[in-house]
Amino acid sequence: MERKRLRSSSFNETLEEKKARAQRIIEILKREYPRERHVSGDPYRTLIRCIISQRNRDEVTDKVSEELFKRYKSIEEIANESVENMQEFLRKQKVGLWKNKGKWIVEASRIILYKYGGKVPNTLEELMKLPGIGRKCANIVLAYGFGKPAIPVDTHVYRISRRLGLAPINSTPEKVEEILKTLIPVEEWIYVNHAMVDHGKSICRPIKPKCELCPLNELCPKIGV
Ligand code: SF4
Repeated sequence: MERKRLRSSSFNETLEEKKARAQRIIEILKREYPRERHVSGDPYRTLIRCIISQRNRDEVTDKVSEELFKRYKSIEEIANESVENMQEFLRKQKVGLWKNKGKWIVEASRIILYKYGGKVPNTLEELMKLPGIGRKCANIVLAYGFGKPAIPVDTHVYRISRRLGLAPINSTPEKVEEILKTLIPVEEWIYVNHAMVDHGKSICRPIKPKCELCPLNELCPKIGV
């Protein structure tokens, strides 16, 4: 067993103790925020939704994604649309960054259709080559589109993992992802993002987290809070 004390954590714990704490945290979050479904089973829609969601509230993303797929019934229809028309559609829907997103949606759809035969690629490397798809979106597509083990690090996962002392406060999002993957068993990865998103919206908010109500209180060193 790894007995070396971890300097990066505010708890004086070994790596094994930290893994046990991380697993306990995920268990509690899973219990507190059950979701009926994690995997959409539709990688293309998950990908387009992720492009729309960037710097948008969830309600806006939900509404616009629904409208978009009502108007365009297939990847072919989107790939054959002009960038200008897609931008105009997004602008009318009051989507932030509509210019970039309109271009990314049409261009990513064309690449998927013509280069990949209409099938969204299922590796992080290939996904990240698509326009508008960074590491977070690529992981979202892998996890929720394909049901593959992945941990998308969005703003909630990033903030909460560091407050919990699971990752050092100065970690990059990529480093947080790497550390979480070493601490949490692979079969639990699918829960991490959804659970921390729900927790980050309700309790561990960016400003004034409600630590006194938090079910993780005793497991959390509250770094930076
Ligand atoms: S105890 Fe506070 S800082 Fe820690 S996870 Fe809960 S709300 Fe966030």
